Amino acid sequence: MLSKDMIEIGSKRSTIREIFEFGKRRAEIVGRDKIYDFSIGNPNVPAPESVKEAILDILENEDSTVVHGYTSAQGDDKVRESIADSINKRFGTNYTKNNLYMTIGAAASISICFKALSCKDDEFITFAPFFPEYRCFVEATGAKLIVVEANIENFQINFKEFEKSINKNTKAVIINSPNNPSGVVYSEETILKLTKLLKEKSKEYGHTIYLISDEPYREIVYKGVEVPYITKYYDNTFVCYSYSKSLSLPGERIGYVLVPNEIENFQDTYAAICGAGRVLGYVNAPSLFQRVVAKCADQTSDVSIYERNKELLYNGLIEMGYKCVEPGGAFYLFPQSLEADAKAFCERAKKYDLLLVPGDDFGCPGHVRISYCVQTEQIVNALPIFKKLAEEYNITK
Ligand code: PLP
Repeated sequence: MLSKDMIEIGSKRSTIREIFEFGKRRAEIVGRDKIYDFSIGNPNVPAPESVKEAILDILENEDSTVVHGYTSAQGDDKVRESIADSINKRFGTNYTKNNLYMTIGAAASISICFKALSCKDDEFITFAPFFPEYRCFVEATGAKLIVVEANIENFQINFKEFEKSINKNTKAVIINSPNNPSGVVYSEETILKLTKLLKEKSKEYGHTIYLISDEPYREIVYKGVEVPYITKYYDNTFVCYSYSKSLSLPGERIGYVLVPNEIENFQDTYAAICGAGRVLGYVNAPSLFQRVVAKCADQTSDVSIYERNKELLYNGLIEMGYKCVEPGGAFYLFPQSLEADAKAFCERAKKYDLLLVPGDDFGCPGHVRISYCVQTEQIVNALPIFKKLAEEYNITK
């Protein structure tokens, strides 16, 4: 007998993938340039030239049996040293290789943290709008995901609802800032309020409530917006990082979990991260790309292209009368749908081959996600369609 849960998860594509596949089929019929696909978060900005140079340099000058060989489960020592140095230089921290565990991207980093923490009856809390994969990663460990309703005013944390959700079974809270899908960056005020509450509740319930900070978009921020470095505010934090977006390497599967020394019972906690990586069968993160990201740890792809896209799209939509919280980073816009049922609105947009994702899957109905990591030309060509939709719904200014 097969696992019913796995059959269900494996048979259902995510809504994002469904829409993306629809776009590919339509492109074959009407042509790529007639499809305005804003469904998927695949970076369109190329990896910096230094990534290619690092790959060539490693392949030409390093021992290939080492480059393509297994590394230690937690990652190559020198790689982790370089990455720790880069983090320390940028955030004024004091980490060493012993604080890092290399992973196959943020998805693995998050699943490893859930697995390492999860015990019977545990609950994990996240805040809408949230990355939908959290649910299957948490449920795979036997734990429960609790979603706190969004604060649609500004997409900071809805503390009133959060206080109703936190309880003695809460093992950890997972945050994602800059956020997919809202693009919002949590302010220092939000982080201070959150961490104060977690400290109080940990004391009240007599056990640590951990904070998992999912940060694949940390470097993609606009107008000098600061993304607070969470370990400075809360000792019991795991930082889940990935180079998928910052270096435009999503297919190469490379990232890390950072475990600070200050976390409760550091030795056992780091061991639990290693144990979780082991039982999930990750063995080690890709050896070649561990070396590549170590050489490029201080760099990013050209973020200014995303900022240009954001300005064009955000200003264009606001001008037409759409309502949207201005993003501080990532490459998503999350405006209100023009009718209460975001799925129906997305279906109407689809008639013009404008492909948007309803907010329902992100735990935030009544909104749509627009992923603008696309050619700027696509945005220019799509704006008249957004306008036409606004006119159909009679909202034009
Ligand atoms: N977390 C968030 C919020 C994401 O948006 C994504 C990918 O889109 C991931 C995690 C997974 O990233 P990775 O490709 O590094 O596994």
